[in-house]
Amino acid sequence: MNIPVKARSHAYEVQIGSGHLTKAVQSFKEEISKADRLIVFTDEHVWKIYKEPFTNNFPFPFDVFVLPGGEACKTFDHYFAAQTFLLEKKCTRKSFLFAFGGGAVGDLTGFVAATFMRGVPFIQIPTTILAHDSAVGGKTAINHPLGKNMIGAFYQPEGVIYDIDFLESLPQREIRSGMAEVIKHALISDEKWLQQLMDYPSILSLSKEQLEHNLEQGIRVKANIVEQDEEEHSVRKYLNFGHTYGHAIEAASGFGKVAHGEAVMIGMVYALLLSERYGDITHSFTKKFLQFALSNGYPFEAVRKFTFDELLSYLMKDKKAEYGHLQFVLLRKVGQPFVQKISQQECRELDHLLRKLLEEVAYD
Ligand code: NAD
Ligand code: ZN
Repeated sequence: MNIPVKARSHAYEVQIGSGHLTKAVQSFKEEISKADRLIVFTDEHVWKIYKEPFTNNFPFPFDVFVLPGGEACKTFDHYFAAQTFLLEKKCTRKSFLFAFGGGAVGDLTGFVAATFMRGVPFIQIPTTILAHDSAVGGKTAINHPLGKNMIGAFYQPEGVIYDIDFLESLPQREIRSGMAEVIKHALISDEKWLQQLMDYPSILSLSKEQLEHNLEQGIRVKANIVEQDEEEHSVRKYLNFGHTYGHAIEAASGFGKVAHGEAVMIGMVYALLLSERYGDITHSFTKKFLQFALSNGYPFEAVRKFTFDELLSYLMKDKKAEYGHLQFVLLRKVGQPFVQKISQQECRELDHLLRKLLEEVAYD
């Protein structure tokens, strides 16, 4: 199945399927034949599992640059090491990069591709559920110790090859983390779809068909938004649902300690509480949603580890913060997101309400 992403700067497709790596890479034959070098960026965990099948199925000769596993690769040092590698391999503007891994490898590779010699083409080959989100839409970034994704660029890939066979080795925690972004896509787009997700006995053990169906749906939501607003001037902000408070939890914990999607899940509950005030979300819905998250094993303990003031310093670094106010994406109802300015004082009140709710529901 090919899902088009007609971003203004560059249109491309997400080829989602199973066992189609060779065929999908070959579909770029023309562009690849012009390249002087193909470099695959991956991470050590992914490479350990897939070195052999990937090498056997990748239809062209390539060099590989192996990064540390997960979020640890999104640092300036690894960014610099990657550039050094490309220079040492005598790469040029005609070289072609591939990001084979989760969102972290994808974000780092995309940023390297955006900046090496002012830009070389790259293809995303995501290997996590979460990366149905991160591999689409052209946001690339590395972290700074003072904030997540603080250094980056909008830079679209030539294409996305999503072979869901790679997802079979995902640990449960990564399935959970990735499904949080699927749930986010449902919350901001479609009440019926959200209900279907909430009705699964467990979202961690979907069949391959169910998983593919939900990932396709998530990619369509993302593609649709990116097509309308590539650089986040308007509707793209909706994709940050749950991310403002979530990023603060993620950053305060130390990058990689709390999985991205786990932090986003906490942030979504926070955003739902705010949506009760500014939208038509009911408290019973928020509670039901929290129970759904808990029944699927999403951890909320990270909230207890920090005071609101500790989180606030990270909240204020949000890229959407303006003049001491924070911008939150809220829901009028499921499927109807909007952006709302919230004062620091109100953020504090809501943080208090979240802690109260967690005491009631989660920590007994
Ligand atoms: P990740 O890349 O850190 O991968 C999670 C872990 O799973 C890592 O340890 C990795 O080595 C391992 N892994 C990856 N694929 C595997 C597989 N098939 N089998 C077994 N293990 C595997 O994390 P992620 O959750 O994919 O992505 C999170 C990152 O994505 C964050 O940095 C986040 O900021 C970013 N993100 C970016 C966007 C965007 O639009 N660019 C959107 C959402 C998230
Ligand atoms: Zn995210």
